[in-house]
Formats: sequence, C-alpha cells, structure tokens
Amino acid sequence: MNKHLNRNILRMSTMYVPTLKEDPSDADIPSAKLLTRAGMIRKEAAGLYSFLPLGLRVLRKIENIVREEMDSHGGEELLMPFVQSADLWRQSGRWGAYGEEMMTMRDRHDNEFCLGPTAEEVITDLVKNELRSYKDLPKNLYHIQLKFRDERRPRFGLLRSREFIMKDAYSFDKDQEGLEVNYQLMRDAYSRMCERMGMEYRIVQADPGEIGGNGTEEFMTLAETGEAELVYCDCGYAADVEVGECHPNPVGYVGDTMEKIATPGLHTIEELADFLGIEADGTVKAFSGKDKEGAIWVLFVPGNYEVNEDKAAHVVRGFEPLTDEEMKDAGLVKGSMGPVGLPEGVRICADDSLRDVERWIVGANEEGYHLLGAKQGEDFTVDAWGDLCTVVAGDACPCCGKPLQAARGIEVGQIFKLGTKYSEAMGALFMDEDGTEKPFIMGCYGVGVSRCMAAAVEQSHDDMGIIWPVGIAPAHVAVIPLSTKPDEVTEAAEDVAAKLAAAGLEVCIDDRDERAGVKFADNDLIGWPAQVVIGKRGLAAGTVEVKNRKTGEKTDVAVDDVVSFVE
Ligand code: ATP
Ligand code: MG
Ligand code: MG
Ligand code: MG
Repeated sequence: MNKHLNRNILRMSTMYVPTLKEDPSDADIPSAKLLTRAGMIRKEAAGLYSFLPLGLRVLRKIENIVREEMDSHGGEELLMPFVQSADLWRQSGRWGAYGEEMMTMRDRHDNEFCLGPTAEEVITDLVKNELRSYKDLPKNLYHIQLKFRDERRPRFGLLRSREFIMKDAYSFDKDQEGLEVNYQLMRDAYSRMCERMGMEYRIVQADPGEIGGNGTEEFMTLAETGEAELVYCDCGYAADVEVGECHPNPVGYVGDTMEKIATPGLHTIEELADFLGIEADGTVKAFSGKDKEGAIWVLFVPGNYEVNEDKAAHVVRGFEPLTDEEMKDAGLVKGSMGPVGLPEGVRICADDSLRDVERWIVGANEEGYHLLGAKQGEDFTVDAWGDLCTVVAGDACPCCGKPLQAARGIEVGQIFKLGTKYSEAMGALFMDEDGTEKPFIMGCYGVGVSRCMAAAVEQSHDDMGIIWPVGIAPAHVAVIPLSTKPDEVTEAAEDVAAKLAAAGLEVCIDDRDERAGVKFADNDLIGWPAQVVIGKRGLAAGTVEVKNRKTGEKTDVAVDDVVSFVE
C-alpha cells in the first residue's frame, strides 16, 4: 500500500507548515510569536489572521470541545449570517450606540449593514415570530461564527484581533427561574470547556456595564500577559476589575476620545459613592485630562469625593489635566458637562477641592451639554469598554473579609443574564400560561474560540516553543526518524506511526529531508505533547526514544511497547 494514502498520519514532508527561526518583529506576546513561528497562523493585516493547516487543526479541536459541551448542556447549533442588517440594530437601539468597534457598510441599493460583532439582534429577530408559546420554551441556540470588531488597538495576536471566531449562545426562557437554570448549565459547560482545553482558569464576577441586568461572570485564564486584571480570594471569590481601559482605583469613569464620552458603568452616582465608601450628596463632578497617547478622558466622580491628578492617574495611566486651550480644541466647555446615565433631576454643583487643577463643573444631564451640540448615539456613544472599577487588591473580600489578591487574566468567555432588554426593544413576545403576552427572558453566552487558542499557548510554552495541552494539540504524537534515506530507520518510523494511528492516536511523521537538529527544533516549536525519536543506534538495541514535551523527560522504550507507552 502506498504509505501516502494512510490519511490518518500527517506528513511533515507534504504539509504546509512554514516554520520560522526568528520571532516576527510585530508579534508582541509569546502566543503571537510562537503560533507564527510554528507555522500555524499568519498576520494578514492589523487584527486579521490566516489559520494555516496545523493552526486550523487546533482551532477545530477547540470548536469541537465547545460544540460538544454546548450540545450536552442543552445547546442547539445553528448558523446565522456574519453580515447583519442595520434595521435590526435600529430596533434594539444599538445602531450608532454600539460604538466604533462596529464596522458598517452599504450595499448597492444603499441599505446599511454591519459585520456582526455579536448577534443578540439577529437571534431575537430570528425567534420572535416562531417561538410563540411558553410551551416552546426554553431554548438555547448557538452558533460558531466569525465576528468583526474594529478594535481600537488590535494587538496580542489572536487575543485581540478584529476578525475572530466566537461561539455565541442565546437562551430564551419564560421566567427568571428558567434563566437561572440555563445560566447554570452554561456555567458548567464553560467550566468543562476550560478543563478540557487544559486551562488554568477562574470564574470571576464582571461588571454588567451598559447591558445592565443582575448577573454576569467571565471565564479568565490566568496569564501574565492577560489584559484583564482580577482580584481573588482563597475562599473562592474572584472579580474582574476591568483594567483594560482603567486602573482598579475606583475614582470614576471614563471616555477615551471626544467622540466617545459616556458613563456606561455608572448607573447612578449613588452606586458609585456607595462603593467609594462615601455618602452620596447628589452631586457629580467631572475631571478631564489626557493619557500618554493624547487620548482625552473624562472622569465622573461624586461631587464630594476628592479627586486630584494623582488619583486620576490611577484610572488613566499618565493622566495629565487638559489646559484651557486643549479643552477648547476638544470641544469641551467649562461649566457645562452632562454625563450620560445620571438619573433625572440630579442637582450637580461645584466642588472646591478641585480648585488647584484644571476642572469644570458638570452642568446638566442634557444632550448638547456633554459636548457642544452633541447627541447621544450620533456624536458620542455608550459603550462597554470602560466598565466601572469596583474592587481592588487589598480590599476586603466580600465573602470572607480577607484581603483580596491580584492576578492577570485573559477573558476567554463570558456568560450573561440579559433579561428582557432585547426582547422588549424588539417586541419578541410569547404567550404565557396565564394568557398574557410577555417578553422572553434572555441570556447570552460567548466564548472566544480563536482567543482560546492563543490563551492556551500563553499558559503553556517554554523557550523552545509551544506545549499543547493534549485536548487541543494539532496531533498527539510526532514520530521523528533520524534518517532521510529509505532504510531500516524510516521503515521502523512508518511502522511505529501506523501502529500509533491504529491505536487511535493522531500522529505526525517528520519524514522531511532535514538534519536532526532542524527536526528537533521544529517539533519542539510546534509542541506536540509527545515525540518518538527513532535512530539507528536505538533500533540496533530494539528501542526508540519517547520524549514528553512538557517535562522534557526522555525514555528509551522497546519498539514493541511504544504504543502502550505513548497512550
Ligand atoms: P474584551 O473585554 O477582551 O474586549 P469583550 O468583553 O468585549 O472582550 P464579549 O463581548 O464578552 O467580549 O465577547 C465574548 C468573547 O469573545 C470574549 O469573552 C472573548 O473571548 C472573545 N473576544 C471578544 N473580543 C475579541 C477580540 N477582539 N479578539 C478575539 N476574541 C475576542
Ligand atoms: Mg471588547
Ligand atoms: Mg470584557
Ligand atoms: Mg466580555
């Protein structure tokens, strides 16, 4: 039989695995460097990546783990379009309000569309005239589909790309109890996914931000390079401090460019005062400045909270107050700032503690006061990127009182009790048992499939390369003959590879015409969990060398015992 017809065995000689010796100059973290060097991904443009054959194998494994866990926890897979109609987003009120991460376009008939950044609108529209009765509920529908978010700073390879693959699920229930059941099922599914992907993770409380609602948690894999900062306690409590855009010192909230000033995390100034540990006096003040990159930020704090440049620098790194001139250029007006999201009728007044720094006073909660003539949804948007910081390391744990510790993490997934926000806005109603029409109680649940691939590498690599967790490795074992000419070594390698494959393992044979040093380096870089190295000397003694990529441990194993050893 022609050995090339054994499709269960990957062959390095024929595969497209362009490995690189050097780190690509624009790769900024280990996973971006190693995935590129290992010939698994290639950057096409900022935040846009190709998955090469080996990388795609990993991606598919992650997808399959996600799919299996979704299916076994009540999920049902479908596929919705990547391009979405603006009309749906207008119905939910998010067209324009979603922010600059949304990539929009027009077709030849001048209809507006966007590249889907998420799919609450599409799914709500999809079910709204089909799920009519409480008897049709519950439902949990998901898809694994491309997403596009025009991230302000695409970076860190697959961790923060613009085009990426997400599994997003949406549950529909008739009541809150039903939602709780679905939420818990998804929580279990996500835990299982993380475990099967070999990740060290924590489930952390997150800020519901603009969506509101009463419950959301993020699944964070722990990694030094993670953009998210979390606090945790030995008792099991863990929370996100949302450090992506602001530092965990809870001074206030934030906008980054003048087109984007808003206060999504700040629902009421009382809430803010409450966690700052002060009595709200019903007043608010704003404090503006710029960060190192010149982006303009506005912090909103309770009027009686003393804020100064130093405290502001904890929220915005390198914070510097604006000069009069800069304020003018930015279209800011002293004495008339109205943050979005303040309750009606809040009286807003001056605070003398700000006398020595650039300051102005919040004027009124009205459009046009925020920026001169600016309208919410058109000139500025409410967005989720600057969720309010609520906890910091050193704070007392809300569960047991011990001081909280800090860690960094990568948000690989988030689960959310949405409630009726979308069903109400879009008129998605069902007939309940009592004969009345009610909006669906919804939940949404996202996993960054492509982000998981990079997160796994961030957690598991060494100086030589990637160390794939078995569950998502491109193949389980590499067979490496130290000979290139057909001889007893290559023959034994083919034989061992075939036996490993027959035992159900995924095998790659490095049958390239390359020096041993090149093969060792590439196979370490690619990071198969195990390697079987076959050389003349060992064969003469009837053995091959099995290397555990993670521990580096090498063991001489009798040729006949390789399969049971590797299994
Ligand atoms: P982040 O806080 O990192 O910006 P997010 O909270 O905006 O992420 P969600 O809206 O919760 O993201 O989307 C669900 C999942 O999609 C995230 O948990 C993450 O794993 C993934 N994801 C989000 N943005 C990106 C991105 N730019 N690149 C890759 N994966 C992403
Ligand atoms: Mg985001
Ligand atoms: Mg997030
Ligand atoms: Mg999230």
